Amino acid sequence: MGSILIKQAEIVTMNKDEEIFIGDLLIEGTVIKAMGKNLGDIQVDKVIDGRGKTVIPGFVQTHIHLCQTAFRGKGDDLELMDWLQKRIWPLEAAHDEESIYYSAMLGIGELIQSGTTSIVDMETVHHTDSAFQAIASTGIRALAGKVMMDKGTEVPKALQENTQQSIQESVDLLEKWHNHDQGRIQYAFTPRFVVSCTEPLLKEVQKLSDHYQVKVHTHASENRGEIEIVQAETGMRNVVYLDHLGLANERLILAHCVWLDAQEKRILKERGVKVTHCPGSNLKLASGIAEIPDLLSQDIAVSLGADGAPCNNNLDMFNEMRMAALIQKPIHGPTAMNARTVFRMATRGGAKAIGLEDEIGSLEVGKKADIAILDLNDFHTYPSFDVDTISRIVYSATRADVETTIINGRIVMENRMMKTLDKQLVLSESNRVMKRLVKRLPKIS
Ligand SMILES: [Zn+2]
Repeated sequence: MGSILIKQAEIVTMNKDEEIFIGDLLIEGTVIKAMGKNLGDIQVDKVIDGRGKTVIPGFVQTHIHLCQTAFRGKGDDLELMDWLQKRIWPLEAAHDEESIYYSAMLGIGELIQSGTTSIVDMETVHHTDSAFQAIASTGIRALAGKVMMDKGTEVPKALQENTQQSIQESVDLLEKWHNHDQGRIQYAFTPRFVVSCTEPLLKEVQKLSDHYQVKVHTHASENRGEIEIVQAETGMRNVVYLDHLGLANERLILAHCVWLDAQEKRILKERGVKVTHCPGSNLKLASGIAEIPDLLSQDIAVSLGADGAPCNNNLDMFNEMRMAALIQKPIHGPTAMNARTVFRMATRGGAKAIGLEDEIGSLEVGKKADIAILDLNDFHTYPSFDVDTISRIVYSATRADVETTIINGRIVMENRMMKTLDKQLVLSESNRVMKRLVKRLPKIS
């Protein structure tokens, strides 16, 4: 890893003043070393001609399930509990080390190709080490953990774990992977959701997250049926229950939060809990529309995520940004969730959610070089004259406009060629491992 100079590109910094300028950006090792209108002729290992290109901070997706990428197209047109019980849990139960690995490689390929450089990833019960191997070798930045689930109905045998096993396996993975590659990879405890976890498990997660000072990532208040189950079992609303267990703090990242009452929103704000908005998944599973403008107006930290491939069915931040903006407009009017608000959520918002706001999420000297280079010179993004660049990115651009992706100073895709994985191999292996996995399945309805 050496030095890279991107020359004369349009640089969308997303710094405090959200400056955009035409100029140069110098990467040295893993960080942005210098930026300016013209850095002159510096001796570097590689020069990228940025003329006519647009350079943005890499996207940060704060809710992904790499282990489910291989199930794309296998969970269509269902709502949450049926989707889990009839499709996703049996499929996850049938995974082996190799199928997890190629599922992760497929997902990471798609993420890198569409300009995502960091993820928060919730895996399944077993074989999470394989997902970490894929994360390690491809170079993506990730906060990831093995799913924890020690209770629940209609859970396949292979996914049933006892409390102690679940904790032990999580701690083993944490000790192996947390802060791997100088912090590029971090471990998070990822209990699936309250419905799947006993109180002793959640209490232990709270203690361990305090002890190791690591994040906790879980689903909450995604679906009304889920909330009814939590209420019947605990006598409390979902977020109130998490707070009651001491889990609601600034290290907690909650996916969805579609159905919150005023008390729950107050808890999120007071405790500094982070919310991941997943508009594509919320629409497809008919979960509902999260009250994001309200959360933002209360200064609650919100970022974006595509969720898993079988409930979306893509892991594409351009899709999520567009949906996040559009779904609020019929409810709150056309000015709600403008392009800049959404783009901020996709970059700086994600960085804040994972506690890396001083390292990623914007292009500034001293920050990590996590960058996507876009080519916005096409029919669907023109004219460019007198049009706001962020509007072009959020409302007109697509994943196909991402030309080069750099993570931690390493080029992982260059001119649409993947540099850290073999695309054809990953595609063919994903079919091969699924053929074997499907044979293991009990008949799914
Ligand atoms: Zn999810």
